[in-house]
Amino acid sequence: KNVELEGVNAKLAVVVAELELLATVDGLTAIPNRRVFDRAIELETQRGIRRHHDFCVVMVDVDHFKHYNDTNGHPAGDRALQKVASVMRDALRTTDLLARYGGEEFVVLLLDTDLEAGVRVAESLRRAIEASSFEFGGGQPMGRVTVSVGVAAFGVHGVGPSELLARADEALYAAKRGGRNRALAWTSEMAGGPE
Ligand code: GH3
Ligand code: MG
Ligand code: MG
Repeated sequence: KNVELEGVNAKLAVVVAELELLATVDGLTAIPNRRVFDRAIELETQRGIRRHHDFCVVMVDVDHFKHYNDTNGHPAGDRALQKVASVMRDALRTTDLLARYGGEEFVVLLLDTDLEAGVRVAESLRRAIEASSFEFGGGQPMGRVTVSVGVAAFGVHGVGPSELLARADEALYAAKRGGRNRALAWTSEMAGGPE
């Protein structure tokens, strides 16, 4: 009877571990998902308000990705997203939290990083993707797979998670409007969001 119970417990432990993984890791890219990011930025914001800590939010969106999918098929698009994730992960420090925020959009939480350093990291991510070769990169409108990047800094551009995310997003859309394949920090002229 005890041996039987032990067997059931062991199986349960495996199922719990599998569920934890499913709840936190993105199935396609194997990086943390949006839930993990949302929880982390919430905690970091509270920590920063109690006693100031620098951190930045970086939003990354693949340029002309619909074109990549339409031209090369969805499975090739999936492989490209996996590569974008792994190139960025390799370009970051282990203390940076890279997550898949949705479709072809990624977000990074840069801990102990001020605005100036955050902009440098954003630019290094942009450059790392531009320098990587993708299966069908040559068929893209700009001849390569590229990303646009927006940066917002805690205490400079906002204090709450939604405010910081909105500003990183506005900076990202300004980068798109400016011609794509660029990294920009938020400025007040960008206020108002996409369009
Ligand atoms: P922009 O430069 O303005 O960002 O243009 P875009 O084409 O990247 O933007 P748009 O939002 O029109 O298209 C995003 C595309 O990303 C649409 C969708 O087909 C693709 N996509 C989103 N998630 C996935 C995914 O998990 N796998 C694949 N293969 N494609 C995805
Ligand atoms: Mg997008
Ligand atoms: Mg895009």
